[in-house]
Amino acid sequence: MHLKTNDIVEVITGDDRGLRGKILTIDREAGKVVVEGVNRVYKHVKRSQKNPQGGRLSKEMPVRISNVLLFCSRCNKPTRTGSRPAADGSKERFCRKCEAGMGQLSPAKTKEK
Ligand SMILES: [Zn+2]
Repeated sequence: MHLKTNDIVEVITGDDRGLRGKILTIDREAGKVVVEGVNRVYKHVKRSQKNPQGGRLSKEMPVRISNVLLFCSRCNKPTRTGSRPAADGSKERFCRKCEAGMGQLSPAKTKEK
């Protein structure tokens, strides 16, 4: 998957299907992402020095990367992405539906793993 933090993704399966949000963190080893507003759980917190008010705290829990797709603003839909070499030798990400470029994946002249 060619996802980066701050990407806008849409959830394609599960309870939050159709929700769209920004990627806050990516855990590549676990294959999970935390998306703003998605898979939010509420935690009851006792009053403490850190939380003088106590009450409920909401926190997004990670979701599997395979449950989200990058959102293409041109298609106005979640989409699968590919990567292709750009003119300057860098790699760019693109929408497989409309072929629109969706940002650089690696800078020019770096070795591929
Ligand atoms: Zn597109």
